[in-house]
Order: sequence, then C-alpha cells, then structure tokens
Amino acid sequence: MQKEKSIAVVGSGLVGSLLALYLKNMGHEVTVFDRRQDVRKVEFSGRSINLAMSNRGWKALKTAGIETEIRKLALPLDKRAMHVNNKPLYFQKYGKEGEAIYSISRGILNRKMIDLAEDAGVKFRFGEKIWDINMPEAKLYTGESEKGEWKEYCFDLIFGADGAFSRIRHKMQRQSRFDYSQHFIDVGYKELRIPANSDGTHKLDNASFHIWPRGKFMLIAMPNQDGSFTCTLFMPFEGEVSFESITTEEKAEEFFETFFPDIKDEISNLKRDFFKNPTSAMVTIKCFPWTFNDKVALVGDSAHAVVPFYGQGMNAGFEDISVLFEKIRKYKDNWQLIFQEYQKERKPNTDAIAELSYRNFIEMSSKTADPDFLLRKKIENRFGEKHPGSWVPLYSRVTFSDKPYAEALAIGEKQRRIMDEVMEMPNIGKKWNHEEVENRILELLAAAM
Ligand SMILES: Cc1cc2nc3c(=O)[nH]c(=O)nc-3n(C[C@H](O)[C@H](O)[C@H](O)COP(=O)(O)OP(=O)(O)OC[C@H]3O[C@@H](n4cnc5c(N)ncnc54)[C@H](O)[C@@H]3O)c2cc1C
Repeated sequence: MQKEKSIAVVGSGLVGSLLALYLKNMGHEVTVFDRRQDVRKVEFSGRSINLAMSNRGWKALKTAGIETEIRKLALPLDKRAMHVNNKPLYFQKYGKEGEAIYSISRGILNRKMIDLAEDAGVKFRFGEKIWDINMPEAKLYTGESEKGEWKEYCFDLIFGADGAFSRIRHKMQRQSRFDYSQHFIDVGYKELRIPANSDGTHKLDNASFHIWPRGKFMLIAMPNQDGSFTCTLFMPFEGEVSFESITTEEKAEEFFETFFPDIKDEISNLKRDFFKNPTSAMVTIKCFPWTFNDKVALVGDSAHAVVPFYGQGMNAGFEDISVLFEKIRKYKDNWQLIFQEYQKERKPNTDAIAELSYRNFIEMSSKTADPDFLLRKKIENRFGEKHPGSWVPLYSRVTFSDKPYAEALAIGEKQRRIMDEVMEMPNIGKKWNHEEVENRILELLAAAM
C-alpha cells in the first residue's frame, strides 16, 4: 500500500509494540528500541498494574488481527461492586446487557504484544536507551550513558512511544512555539494484593470491579486470571489521612481496620507490602504539536498522559494507532499530511479524556457512595433504557463506543445541566420513576437542541 520505509519506534510498551505490529503488517522495516531489558525475561516487580481494556482498545487490536489472542488474557467485568462502610455490598451495572470492561495485567499484555510483533518480523533492541534524536534527519543516538560514546542509527521515520517522560518529546520541547504542560495530582497510589483461595478461586466476585469509596481516598480491586486481585489504594500524599500520615506497620493496620475492615484480612502481607511497595505519582501531560515535518511523531503517553480514573490511558493510546492507520490509508505516502491530520484529530480528543479522567476521581471516590448521585444515576439509567436514542450515559460514550472523546465530554456536560434541573424537582426522591420526570427530561432535551 505504501512505499517501504525504515521506521524506528522508541518504546516497547503497549502502544509502541502495537504500532510496530501495524507498521510491519503494512510492509515497513520496523525496529523498536527500549531502555529496559526484555520484559519477557525479567520477573515482575512490586507493581503489577491491571488495566481495563474497553471498546477503543479492542477495536485497535481487532484491526491488527490480534483481538482473539488478547481476549484470552482478559476477564470481563460488567459491573462495579460497591463496598460502602456500614452498608451491604451492592452492584452497579456498567452498561447494557453484554457490555463489559476487561481486566488484564499490563505486564502479561505487554509480553504478549511483543511476542506477536516479533513473530510478525519486528526487530527489538532491548537495553538500548535513546539519549538524543536528530529530528530533521531522523537519526537516533543510543549508548551506555549520556556522557559516554553514542551509537548513531538512521531511519526514514521515527515514532516516540516512550511514555509520559518521553525523551523524544523532550527534544521537541526545545522548538519555538511548542506547548507543554504537566500537572501532578496530590493523590498517589500504592498496589497491594489479594491472593487466590487455596483451590485457585477468587476471594471476591471476579466479574466485578470492586470499589471501597471513602471520600478523599479509595481502594479498588481488579481480578487476575490466577485467582488473585490487584488492589490499588489511591490516597493524598499529605494531610490528615494520607500516605505521609501512615508511618508505622501498626498505623497501616489501624488504617485498614478503620476504613476497610471487610477486606483487610484478605490482603496478603498487608503491613509488609504497604511499606515495601512504592507510592507512585500520577500526572496529566499535554503538549502540541505531536509531530515534526514528515519525520517524527508522538503516540500514546508521550503525547498525552492522563490520570487513570477513567481507565482510558492505554485505550486512548491504542486509538492513536487506529487513527494513524486511517490517515495512512487515506493519504498513502504523504507522511507530512498523515502526521498533520493525525494530530489535528487526536489533540482535542485526548484533551477531553484528560479532563474526564481527572473528574472521574471525584466521582469514584466520593460520589459513588452519595445518595443524590445514586438517585441521579437511577433516573438517567431508567430514561436511557426507555429512550436509548436520546440518552447514552457519559460512561458508556467513553467506554463502550468509539465516538470522539470530545463529543462525549460536550454531550456529558449537556446531560449534567439537564440532570441538575431534574434533581431540583420537588419530591424527586419519591417520584423519580414517574412519567412527569421523564417528560421533564424530554422537554429539557428538546430545549437544549
Ligand atoms: C495505576 C495505573 C492504572 C492504569 N489503568 C489503566 C486502565 O485501566 N486502562 C487504560 O487504558 N490505561 C490505564 N493506565 C494507563 C496505561 O498504563 C498507559 O496509558 C499505557 O501503559 C501507556 O503506554 P505507552 O506505551 O504509551 O507508554 P509506556 O507504557 O510508559 O511505555 C514506554 C516505553 O518506553 C520506554 N522508554 C522510555 N524512555 C526511553 C528511552 N529514552 N529510550 C528507549 N526506551 C524508552 C520505556 O522503558 C517503556 O517500555 C493506567 C496507568 C496507571 C499508572
């Protein structure tokens, strides 16, 4: 389809390995560099992040012909399981019948993607850190250290898939009129583990995304295929209840006893792991442009890192590849135009998912336990079921569709304003399922057209 090019991808993470596979399938010569050793040959460390894969991710994998292989590694979760203190466990369906997000281990997925790309003929160079790039000439420089001797590689094109702290983007930043921002939130995260039962079964429902919302902090748990759960505690770094305030094993135990009594005893080595496992930061990164002439382009977290509360970082990165592929099909060998159109389409959408991800922390940690919020959702869901053409909930637009994120954000805002008015109706708690409420929503929808 295109003239064969010699292409480098910097980063063998999820997005880099998927991009490499796409490019190889199109007939290009592809070399992937990674500063890390081959993840297939190293033991996983204390961080075993699970990811939620949803429609946008699956779509990109399907086009590459690897969806079926990857589905074998994933567990479908069709609902949230809410563990609210002093309330019985309750469930919230994510979407319609048959809709689910999929829990998948980032490490296992990454290993598989590298395998698949390598089988297709992609060359991987592990343990080779990129120190510098010559963008106009598409040259990369690797070496033992920044100050030591460097090796030069020449390509026709280079993609930066080197994550949130991208070296390739760092070089782009030195250009005039390059926009860049990064924002760390004051909440960090720590991973813990719930092991499988002795017979290999899960200790909690394995078709649910478990949440223990506690206002300014929360615990979540996602199932793994080996019967375990990966838990993530999200909590402020500093303050009254914070990572900083838990200084001893006794305090860690007391904290879990107070806030998570129903699960505390299931978490393995709680006291040890709380101090052994790192507390990690979360950042939103935005930049523009993402491309340089017809030579260099950024994809995935290197172009747009988002906080993880909508479960869309990888999905958005995979969608970059779907969009790039569409542009390649349309503009053939005109890489300059491919890059221009790619960044033009993606930038507003990744800005939108950054905003939505940020807002979702508030929703997950505090609102999911709030009676007003639950009533709102009940009204929305009932209306959505009766009028599916007029009301698709925001979560479904982001998670179960491939319509632009920016559109989801805009429609979500409109829906929020409508629901604000509905919630003001007298006695709404009692008459939430009355025709009067439905008619009011229809009226407000018509007025917002
Ligand atoms: C706690 C948490 C939960 C998350 N949950 C979800 C979720 O549920 N769903 C979802 O879709 N997303 C989720 N994400 C986001 C997702 O993990 C990222 O968006 C995704 O991994 C980004 O992939 P990437 O390939 O762009 O970058 P990365 O995975 O960061 O890969 C970058 C690669 O580049 C290499 N590299 C870096 N610098 C150099 C260099 N100078 N030279 C050579 N190689 C280099 C690195 O070693 C690495 O292998 C989550 C993230 C976190 C932190």
